[in-house]
Amino acid sequence: MEYQSKEIVCQNCEADFTIEPDDFGFYEKMKVPAPVTCPQCRQQARMLFRNFKTLYKRPSSLSGKMIISIYIIRILLFRFMIFSNGGVMTGKA
Ligand SMILES: [Zn+2]
Repeated sequence: MEYQSKEIVCQNCEADFTIEPDDFGFYEKMKVPAPVTCPQCRQQARMLFRNFKTLYKRPSSLSGKMIISIYIIRILLFRFMIFSNGGVMTGKA
């Protein structure tokens, strides 16, 4: 399907932003709707959920050694593997 650029008014800040044809293809491929907020407002929304303040003690997914992480274990237990820095850089614990 051929798409054209589309000017959209952000539903949050009312700034104009453009969605390019390639972006529509990506949204269709990912089966998500086109955004209704501008890139800056989406970035702000993503930043709200970033954890900068709290550190958690949890075992490394590679070695089982206790490490300090920004990810809490019970949320990410089955979704992501968290490694210590040494494990990421060398493949060893
Ligand atoms: Zn906005």
